[in-house]
Amino acid sequence: MSLSRPFNFSAGPATLPEPVLRQVAAEMLDWQGSGMSVMEMSHRGREFISICERAEADLRELLAVPNHFRILFMQGGGLGENAIVPLNLSRGGKVDVVVTGSWSRKSATEARRYADVQIAAEGDGRSIPRDWALRSDAAYLHLCTNETIDGVEFHELPRVANGVPVVVDCSSHLLSRPIDWERVGLAFGGAQKNIGPAGLTLVFVRDDLLGHALDICPSAFNYATVAAAQSMYNTPPTFAIYVAGLVFQWVKAFEYAGQRGLAAIEQHNIDKAALLYSALDASGFYENRVEPACRSRMNVPFFLRDESLNDAFLAAAKAAGLLQLKGHKSVGGMRASIYNAMPLEGVRTLVDFLKDFEARHG
Ligand SMILES: *Cc1c(COP(=O)(O)O)cnc(C)c1O
Repeated sequence: MSLSRPFNFSAGPATLPEPVLRQVAAEMLDWQGSGMSVMEMSHRGREFISICERAEADLRELLAVPNHFRILFMQGGGLGENAIVPLNLSRGGKVDVVVTGSWSRKSATEARRYADVQIAAEGDGRSIPRDWALRSDAAYLHLCTNETIDGVEFHELPRVANGVPVVVDCSSHLLSRPIDWERVGLAFGGAQKNIGPAGLTLVFVRDDLLGHALDICPSAFNYATVAAAQSMYNTPPTFAIYVAGLVFQWVKAFEYAGQRGLAAIEQHNIDKAALLYSALDASGFYENRVEPACRSRMNVPFFLRDESLNDAFLAAAKAAGLLQLKGHKSVGGMRASIYNAMPLEGVRTLVDFLKDFEARHG
């Protein structure tokens, strides 16, 4: 890793593994002797089909996606899926949503255009609410398993009775940990948090949930149509799929604490988060307000108790090579997003900076 690049804590689009960026740069003008950039290739040509098939196979292997789930490469982002999911799954009926923060609230609002939406429980943005009023005849239950803005994460998926499928928006922790497929009907995520460039949306959908789209569903967003065409019903985001494929190869080869692949990535994420939360908790100068049992391993919002120091903090962080620590405008404060590609060294540097800034201003 080069020492010259700063550490980038953006919530998304976010930092990517440096070896991937270097490979993309090296292959930019001529992908593996083809004489073309991946951006210039037909999505139906032999070269791109090979890139896409490998990316899908590597992703399936990494997340141990069962054969009765289809993997779709789509566009529209996480917000697009807030409409695309109800168009495909609601059958015009009932949808339950557990609101744990900003993104699940947005999902509920959007789904109301297509379905009878009920908020089954609503959290305070700092915890996962306990009692859920679920309807046994709901078409599905929607959860956001990592609230990027609030920093609230499900560390275990619920077991839902009556066979109501669970839809999870896992945009900001996809590929940071395994997914319990037995408890999921559909999972979606935008790539730009943990996987690659913006423009690619990943959808994992159980076979039995295909084929129930409303008539008004655009064909390009009909999961059954997209699945039947191997994600090539219309032009997929080819360059983003290529970069995501390189990230999948990077994850497969990732080694940490005697492990390899996704297990190594997960342990690395656990250790990074523990380091940062314990530094925040040990200080009277900073604070994270999320209940410890559901703190996100990926997005760590925190506040300076003296908010008049916010601008000085951000300026000093930037000067120290620590970028994009400003919190989301809706909550203020700071936020460190520590996705897969953030090295432990980046978190150590941040923790040292936190202590140093506190020593100078505390
Ligand atoms: C970023 C994000 C979104 C929105 O993604 P877009 O690609 O901007 O539409 C939705 N849900 C979650 C959990 C996110 O982190």
